Amino acid sequence: MKRIVSLIITAFILTACIFTFSACKEKCEHIAGNEQFYAESGGVVTISKKCKMCGEATDEVIDTFNADAVIKYTGNRTADGNEVTKAQQTANGDITICLKKGTYGQIYVGDFEKKVRLVAEEGTRVEVVQVNGGADGVTIENIDIYYNDPETDYSPCIKFETAGGFSYWSNITIKNCNFSGLGTINSAWKKGVVENLIVDGCTFKDVTNNVNYEDSNLSAIFIGETWGTTVIKNCHFEHIAYSAIRLGHYSVEGETIIENCYFKDIVRNRCIMFTAKNETLQDCQVSLVVRGCIFDDTGALRFTKSTTVTNSNLYVYANTWRQIPTSIDNATYYDAREQSEL
Ligand SMILES: [Zn+2]
Repeated sequence: MKRIVSLIITAFILTACIFTFSACKEKCEHIAGNEQFYAESGGVVTISKKCKMCGEATDEVIDTFNADAVIKYTGNRTADGNEVTKAQQTANGDITICLKKGTYGQIYVGDFEKKVRLVAEEGTRVEVVQVNGGADGVTIENIDIYYNDPETDYSPCIKFETAGGFSYWSNITIKNCNFSGLGTINSAWKKGVVENLIVDGCTFKDVTNNVNYEDSNLSAIFIGETWGTTVIKNCHFEHIAYSAIRLGHYSVEGETIIENCYFKDIVRNRCIMFTAKNETLQDCQVSLVVRGCIFDDTGALRFTKSTTVTNSNLYVYANTWRQIPTSIDNATYYDAREQSEL
């Protein structure tokens, strides 16, 4: 009997060893890609290079920093959102907040008279991040904005919202975020002015917001009135139901730079839509720079502008144009700039 038991135990140990050995062999060797992986432990946030094979964190650390507040995900949408607000209200000064992995409802940031950096662990989803009117110094980092329920009465997105009346937002950065479903960035149309906005390293893919929202305001990025510099860089736009970027309703000063972005399959409208409704571009001293971008089988017009926008402040250069359908490729190229349709 003893002998049988020890045989069974030996067989069990051998099997376990073989399994462990094969698991070791199958473990990913990790190849660092361009994307970043955010994780939190003991109040310390670590950003590493993400493995492009398995999507896990590699040993290559890019940055570590302390979070002043770590919001644990409980699944109670209202309570979890309130925790984020409370952390900002009670902070003595500028605050860094880390969201633990989860699927959150609506979160409010900014306008607590301090700067706020909101980062999230890998795989965190938030339906709406509202940047409160009056906010100065807000960074939103590594959040997935994803929603696909057509019954919703709001458009899940990062949005600039006032409590009423006209507001100002300054120095807002949106970095390494992913948008899909109904996810968009909506900035302050008719509600105020955004001064110095940066959108960096974000992905907009399968933004099919045409379910209940057949509205050009819901482009993947919609920029209303701006001052200072607006920069959209290193972003990926693919399969967008309406426009990728709409710069609308300029009546103030500013410069917009769109660089190193990728556009593909922009279904219904334009990669970049540039309108000035009230005054001419020159009068507004607004300029638009588009450089280092790839327009790849975009399936729609590349640019449009309203008739009041003149060409003199448009700088379009060093871009790559691929597989533009002949039906829309009626532009003549001129003047070292790339498209007279501007
Ligand atoms: Zn890996």
